[in-house]
Amino acid sequence: MHEIGIAEAILDAVEKRAAGRPVQRARVRAGALLRISEPAVNQAFAMVSAGSPAEGAHLELVIVPARHICRTCRHITTSDDPFTACDGCGGIDLVTEGGDELVLESIQTTEAAHVPGNPRRDSGDPARPA
Ligand SMILES: [Zn+2]
Repeated sequence: MHEIGIAEAILDAVEKRAAGRPVQRARVRAGALLRISEPAVNQAFAMVSAGSPAEGAHLELVIVPARHICRTCRHITTSDDPFTACDGCGGIDLVTEGGDELVLESIQTTEAAHVPGNPRRDSGDPARPA
């Protein structure tokens, strides 16, 4: 299962950036050529992050298409297919750029997401005397 290796790489980056803080969400840019889907990578991430501060974090994937630059007409075709033909001239002499990146864009830790409580609204002590 190829998502495990990707999830491990993401976890590594997330843990470094979180520096021990509990992580709620992480946004990751993933090249289309990696062929990962959000549910599959989240499933793998849940496994590899168990017991770490990133356990339970949700990954948001931003899929980045690959760019194929035509050597014949210089047209740029974006596609998630590594074997594509030029949109402009139908040629197949293309240089592929990107599509295989894996970049941690941002993380959201529980501290950053903390909303200060309303001090007037007592969260309640059930044993409080009336
Ligand atoms: Zn072309």
